[in-house]
Formats: sequence, C-alpha cells, structure tokens
Amino acid sequence: MFFNMFFKKKKKSDEITIRESVTSIWFYHIAVNGETLCKTPNITMSTAIPVKCWGLRSEHIHEKYCPECTEKFKKEINICQT
Ligand SMILES: [Zn+2]
Repeated sequence: MFFNMFFKKKKKSDEITIRESVTSIWFYHIAVNGETLCKTPNITMSTAIPVKCWGLRSEHIHEKYCPECTEKFKKEINICQT
C-alpha cells in the first residue's frame, strides 16, 4: 500500500514536525518533510512545537491532535513515547 512505501522511504534525516491546521484552530497534524501523515497537504502551517510535545493538552487551549496522524505516528515512527 501507499503508506508502506512512504514509510519505507523514511530516513533518519527526515524532518518530523508538527503542523497546525489552518481551517481548525489548535488542531495539529504530524508531518514528515512537510507532508502530513494523514495526507492532508496545503491546509497546514508550520509550528514551533517540538514533536515530543505531541499529545499534550493545556487547560486553557484544549489542543486537538489529528487521530489519523496520531495512529500512524505511534505505529510507524514511535519516537514520541515519554
Ligand atoms: Zn493529520
């Protein structure tokens, strides 16, 4: 499947970032080299949030995280465990 091909190409040097949706405030995706794991390009903007902070929720903002990105992130990348 396409996703398997995508992740096989992944290298250590790939840049993993958190991107924020431009259509939904405080809604975040994970991207590898700028491409979101859930394949929703062009609707996100870069953030300064470190990847290790993925999943954190502050009390006043109530950030949301893309469930599809979260699932793929845990399954395929798995560097976000604290
Ligand atoms: Zn996503």
